[in-house]
Amino acid sequence: MSVTTTDGVLALVRPDLRDFAGYSSARSEGGDGRIWLNANESAWDNDASPDSGLRRYPEPQPAALRQALADMYGVAAAQLLVGRGSDEGIDLLIRALCRPGDDAVLVTSPTFGMYAVCARLHGTRVVDVPLTDTDDGFECDFDAVATTAEKEDARIVFLCSPGNPSGTLLPRDAIRRLARRLHGRALVVVDEAYVEYAQAPSVANLIEAHDNIAVLRTLSKAHALAAARIGSVLAHEALIGVLRRCQAPYPVPAPSAQTALAAISRTARNSTVGHVQAGVDERKSLYAALRGLAGVRRVYPSRANFLLVRTADTERVYRRLLAAGVVVRDMRGHAALGDALRISIGTPEQNACVLAVLREVLGELADARSVAPVQGDNA
Ligand SMILES: *Cc1c(COP(=O)(O)O)cnc(C)c1O
Repeated sequence: MSVTTTDGVLALVRPDLRDFAGYSSARSEGGDGRIWLNANESAWDNDASPDSGLRRYPEPQPAALRQALADMYGVAAAQLLVGRGSDEGIDLLIRALCRPGDDAVLVTSPTFGMYAVCARLHGTRVVDVPLTDTDDGFECDFDAVATTAEKEDARIVFLCSPGNPSGTLLPRDAIRRLARRLHGRALVVVDEAYVEYAQAPSVANLIEAHDNIAVLRTLSKAHALAAARIGSVLAHEALIGVLRRCQAPYPVPAPSAQTALAAISRTARNSTVGHVQAGVDERKSLYAALRGLAGVRRVYPSRANFLLVRTADTERVYRRLLAAGVVVRDMRGHAALGDALRISIGTPEQNACVLAVLREVLGELADARSVAPVQGDNA
């Protein structure tokens, strides 16, 4: 990096944004008053929502929610930014660290599409170090990631763990070593949208010792709150401050904050743990059943709440699932996934339905094949 005047993680922030104060909202200027006339809000409630508090702008970073999320994720409140899903976190990180029209982010395909979408919208280059397809599933070549990040001068390395759609949980030690090697050069972002389903520890406690690691967490998956749009960035306090200044003045709608707080209460979390376990059990049994099906070329091991499946005739499988009213994610647009579908884990009944359709379609394929050699012999 060209800049030597700023230490630590702030050295990774765009030079032109280092002293950027962002928008100063009425709410952030605050004060202590009895009569609030500083934000041009209506003095009267909407008839449809009396006494709801909705006529006032919300807290920019709802304190109770921020503290509850920080407690749940094992960081300090100052190390956490609440936003509109992890999607907003991805966008903010790119905007804060990469100079538009320049700089680069590194991704490991196949991976979550938003890293590249946000980079492209921001005019930032995307460098890809594809995952390696091995007998044990997709694996990340951390050496190649480090070398390429250095060579291409990437400001951000996006890792997804467990990976979407790979399903692979990345080894914590390798993440730590990568961060150490790229210290002062790049931020290593670990997207843990599915980590609850891995039933493995988060890497969030690495941010204490490594100021160039950030972790993305979300309430959209295991916590069953996708519509509320609540995600968190966990990172060094100084970086959280920078992201906050780049964020919209009031990013978290009050009803969403309220819903989220209730959704991570002790009682709600107890049942979430049960739902996650049920999802993991279902994933394991669907995995075993799919592996036993003729016509299934490959089912990848998964630590998330979906399975990545390659079949002998994915076009036919996809169409027949649709005809049965089952919508799965078609992955055939991705390089290296030309015969793959991503199937989210549903209820036992839903998974049974998926399996029944696959059994039927792939069974027909197997029948057609076993007939073919006979015809060949006769010809
Ligand atoms: C679903 C998903 C997210 C979640 O995004 P939100 O904006 O929090 O809903 C983030 N990263 C990955 C890899 C995902 O699959």
